[in-house]
Amino acid sequence: MAIFDQIVELFAKKGDDAYFGEPVSQKEHALQAAYLAKLEQAPDSLVVAALLHDVGHLVHGLPEDIADRGVDGRHEAAGEAWLTRYFGPEVTEPVRLHVDAKRYLCTVDPEYLSGLSPASAQSLALQGGPFSAAEARRFETHHYFREAVRVRRWDDRAKVPGLEVPDVEHYRRAVESTRRPEENPPITPMTPIRKTQDDDR
Ligand code: FE
Repeated sequence: MAIFDQIVELFAKKGDDAYFGEPVSQKEHALQAAYLAKLEQAPDSLVVAALLHDVGHLVHGLPEDIADRGVDGRHEAAGEAWLTRYFGPEVTEPVRLHVDAKRYLCTVDPEYLSGLSPASAQSLALQGGPFSAAEARRFETHHYFREAVRVRRWDDRAKVPGLEVPDVEHYRRAVESTRRPEENPPITPMTPIRKTQDDDR
């Protein structure tokens, strides 16, 4: 199935799940994050990253109240693993790093931590808490550091109950223009190895 159809199907099947103690569903959250990226005229790769930053929650099949049970589902890793089949690092890296970006922002932005939703503050502890100063500096050297922080900021704001935003279909072109070329290119036949005289000895 084409990647965009898979995304539509994932949101249709799992998108109505609650978003871990937030007042929006998984699909509402994803669509709001993507729309915030659009409003900032982010490149397509980041719009797609925003749309799919929590796809790990949709594909890993863990229960909604996992944080209440004291478990970190590592949804960013599950999301990256799924996305890697279709997208390059400009999409997968901001997704993989969006939890670290929260830990980073808690360290460098004093207002950020107090602004986190209760559910996000709860999962922060399970995710390792705020970065140390040294960890924060190291995070800033990552090639996709800025992109990860942007996705994170949209993520944090994409929790508005009842907000009307465009549907998944709105992102078809962005997804299709960002995805890697089809996998399994035709195999070019290898040139037959010529027998050498040595083979006959
Ligand atoms: Fe999120």
